[in-house]
Amino acid sequence: MQDFELSPIVAGLWRIADWNLGVQERVRWIEQALELGITSFDHADIYGDYHAEALFGEALKAEPTLRERMQLVTKCGVRLRSAQRQYRVNYYDTSAAYVRTQVEQSLRNLHAEHLDLVLIHRPDYLMDAAALADTFATLTLEGKVSHWGVSNHSASQFALLHGHYRLLTNQVELSALQMNALDDGTLDQAQQLGLRPMIWSPLGGGQLFTGKTEQAVRVRSAMTAIAARYDISIAVLAIAWVLRHPSRPHPITGTGRVEGLRDAVAALDVRLDAQDWYAIWTASKGHPVP
Ligand code: NAP
Repeated sequence: MQDFELSPIVAGLWRIADWNLGVQERVRWIEQALELGITSFDHADIYGDYHAEALFGEALKAEPTLRERMQLVTKCGVRLRSAQRQYRVNYYDTSAAYVRTQVEQSLRNLHAEHLDLVLIHRPDYLMDAAALADTFATLTLEGKVSHWGVSNHSASQFALLHGHYRLLTNQVELSALQMNALDDGTLDQAQQLGLRPMIWSPLGGGQLFTGKTEQAVRVRSAMTAIAARYDISIAVLAIAWVLRHPSRPHPITGTGRVEGLRDAVAALDVRLDAQDWYAIWTASKGHPVP
């Protein structure tokens, strides 16, 4: 387990279908991310209505040498209704058959021989932890998946599965607009176990820049003043705010712009003063600490 590390900043591919890049442009985007030290790429089977992985995979097929320079992360376990999948409801499925089907589909989509890390996307209330651990062990033995983790799991849900199979990470949401993870025990657990969390939507999915809620306006105003003092942009500050947490998180940037990737990497050189970190907390909550 010690031999595996995600890059400090991870690139998220949730929005790749919106970027409207041709195959060669996708190759170039990946190359530029790698040149910036972003070597881990976060996918999910369901992104882009089940089509996003294949867009990335086309680039890997066009330039196969890229694969050995990166870590591929993907997720499964959500059965999302779509044109080809007429479920009565959206639901979660962590059965052996479904996890295997989706892992094998991700391998085909990504034109990859193995996946470095696969996460159970959402907590499945019907999950049989011992059975899922067996599924993890079997797919690992077959060489299809190197490491396993979860996403959006509570501390107790993480502990349940981690008791059966050694997980690598819990991928949770954290930003100046969404701070539940600070209080719900997930980041405490990550720190306790020394398992670095992955952080999704560190810019609030863009709401930090465009949000119209009172909270977004307050946070933007506080961050604008602090960013000016550090001589950085709000985007850099927002990532630096996440990085300041002692669980040593890996922020996942969702940007399609290389300049946005550069901002995320620049945050690694910024260490926020605790008062500035708390000023952003205060703006987000709308009241001072008790
Ligand atoms: P994010 O980095 O918080 O938001 C990215 C969005 O913000 C993009 O639309 C981006 O547009 C916009 N943005 C960035 N800089 C901006 C600026 N200066 N001004 C205006 N807009 C700006 O991350 P996210 O995309 O929501 O999530 C990141 C990744 O986390 C996803 O790709 C996915 O891999 C993962 N994720 C996981 C889960 C889960 O349940 N596990 C859920 C959601 C996401 P540009 O492209 O123009 O920069």
